[in-house]
Amino acid sequence: MSKRIIFTTILLLFTDTVSAEWFSNNFKVMGTQAHIEFWLDESAKVNSTSQQLIVLVQEEMHRIDRAMSPYKTTSELSLVNSKAGTQAVVITSELFELLNESQKIAELSDGAFDITYASVGYQYDYRKKQKPSQASIERALKAIDYHAVILDRAKSTVRFSHSDVKIDLGGIAKGYAVKRCLELLKIAGIKHALVSAGGDTGLLGDRRGRPWYVGIKHPRAEEKTAVKLPLSNESISTSGDYERYFIEDGVRYHHIINPKTGDSARKVVSVSIIGKDSTYVDALSTTVFVKGLQEGMAFIEQLPDYEAIIIDNQQTLHVSKGLQRNKSL
Ligand code: ADP
Ligand code: MG
Repeated sequence: MSKRIIFTTILLLFTDTVSAEWFSNNFKVMGTQAHIEFWLDESAKVNSTSQQLIVLVQEEMHRIDRAMSPYKTTSELSLVNSKAGTQAVVITSELFELLNESQKIAELSDGAFDITYASVGYQYDYRKKQKPSQASIERALKAIDYHAVILDRAKSTVRFSHSDVKIDLGGIAKGYAVKRCLELLKIAGIKHALVSAGGDTGLLGDRRGRPWYVGIKHPRAEEKTAVKLPLSNESISTSGDYERYFIEDGVRYHHIINPKTGDSARKVVSVSIIGKDSTYVDALSTTVFVKGLQEGMAFIEQLPDYEAIIIDNQQTLHVSKGLQRNKSL
């Protein structure tokens, strides 16, 4: 046997032992729990280690949080909230695009999704069980109107036409972060991955020949799952009234606000939206939660690429027509 043949054999033996396995990681970000899972096949042109990929995703989520958190005084969002009431503020193209998407969904949903809900939203403190008085809600309602957010694409600026306007991206930023992380994993060569942040989950591919199973939490039994869905290459976002809330005089005050009343939306208890785009499914789950069962389901039925699972306040589960046709459910 020549040296060359021996060398080739050894090389082949080595290639055979290159590892391929699932990796997962949990971490906290954006006030919630994030989870990553991916299949790393080192022979499939993935030049990063599992640890590098985990850090890539963690860093991206933290980066978006630093820019968009309303709780961080140094975030770009906080800067906008403190200045845009009096002057046009130059913003990054990333924030501009997310504000633009938010405005599109506000229009599409007839104002059920409205980032200016925050004009009253910041007066709620669910941990301290605090809510605004009816008088301050009424005052703040004047500043809840997405038309008051004026975007200028040529100058990349945002300005509020009313000085009391505040915005918050809590209904869309986690979905956006999930989308970005999946894109980064895809660019790195990963073909099978799950990235979630709280109730927002995005999937890249399947779970190697079988679907991913994504659970929807039982809205009234913390450790239980209401339903598990087989999904591949899609995103799912759940909005529930059980994530951040307190109960006073038998009334549940929670973090999804009806922009028309300034009060928590109470027509349903859980809404999940399934579709390709994580950013949109996040915003649409909040939207349908505000709209309630009839209006919310009708709204989703007219959007060809999105499906809904709604749990009403009698805890009955309703699914959109596209899911009824899906026999695997
Ligand atoms: P979670 O943040 O628990 O994943 P959602 O995706 O439903 O849940 O988003 C709820 C968040 O959306 C709230 O915490 C708040 O930041 C924001 N929000 C609440 N009401 C509205 C609304 N009507 N329009 C847009 N955003 C909203
Ligand atoms: Mg949402």
